[in-house]
Amino acid sequence: MNNKAVVLYSGGLDSLLAVHIAVNLGLEISALFIKTPFYKKDIKTLKQNLDKLGVELNIVEIDTQYLNIIKKPKYGYGKNLNPCLDCRILMFEKAKELMEKTGASFIITGEVLSQRPFSQRNKTNIMFIQTKSGLDGLVLRPLSAKLLPPTLAEQEGIVDRNKLYSISGRSRKPQLALAKLFNIEYFETPSGGCMLTEPHFANRLKIFLNLDLLDQYNLANIGRHFRIDNNVLIVARNENEYDIIASQKKSFDFFETQDSAGTCAIFLKQSSQEQQFLASQIVLRYSKKAKNVLFYSNNNYKLFNNLKPIEEDKLINLRIGE
Ligand code: SF4
Repeated sequence: MNNKAVVLYSGGLDSLLAVHIAVNLGLEISALFIKTPFYKKDIKTLKQNLDKLGVELNIVEIDTQYLNIIKKPKYGYGKNLNPCLDCRILMFEKAKELMEKTGASFIITGEVLSQRPFSQRNKTNIMFIQTKSGLDGLVLRPLSAKLLPPTLAEQEGIVDRNKLYSISGRSRKPQLALAKLFNIEYFETPSGGCMLTEPHFANRLKIFLNLDLLDQYNLANIGRHFRIDNNVLIVARNENEYDIIASQKKSFDFFETQDSAGTCAIFLKQSSQEQQFLASQIVLRYSKKAKNVLFYSNNNYKLFNNLKPIEEDKLINLRIGE
């Protein structure tokens, strides 16, 4: 065993502290950020804090593999659509791959015992994840290490256990005190993280999942969403969203006002005539003066004219969490 380690780095304060502790312990480390469709960070910002310490940043992007996990997580979801156990196992596996590739001997994470995320809630979950990813004894969690069994790196004297911490729970005070000690000036608030834990986003994504539309996940955070039978209508709320939705015109059934400025919308699945009529009424509901709506599909178009906007009580039943 050598003193080389891979630090799983999320960009949050806890993993940044883990990096600082590892550097202070004299370990040779490289950081790994795992980019998933629902956990994105500004890479420039991520790098800034590492550059100060001379730590290299590796980035691994997981897309299809991650969507498959969300579709069918082996170990279930947390409170929303967050498949934390499966997600952490996958991240550990990716860290293990980098560990083996770079000749490192162990992995370091910023995990804190009994903190909020499902995967870190208790010792059992923490241990379960490392066993499932084939990393028993090889994951050092410097912030909570003294509350956990010694890792191989500690047993072999590569890491001095006395220089590790015994932080647990949801209070951020110990971490903030450490940030001060290490002169860390910029770090992210703990809330800026995984979109799958946000109820509003997760509710929309659940509908995508149920209707076999998960591949369109990049549209889940755009516009107002309405469920019409087995279809989802997305209506632009502003100019920026108008441009994004209009740019999808060739891929989806598309609606826009014809006689006056207004909004636009797409259906994520091919629509029936009844659905198109309802969608046109919804488009008018969010367009001040218009009465006519143009519908485009596969280079054909149809005009729905002299319509009235949909009534509010009908609209409420179709709305997906706003
Ligand atoms: S909160 Fe999100 S990123 Fe974190 S372990 Fe859970 S699913 Fe993965």
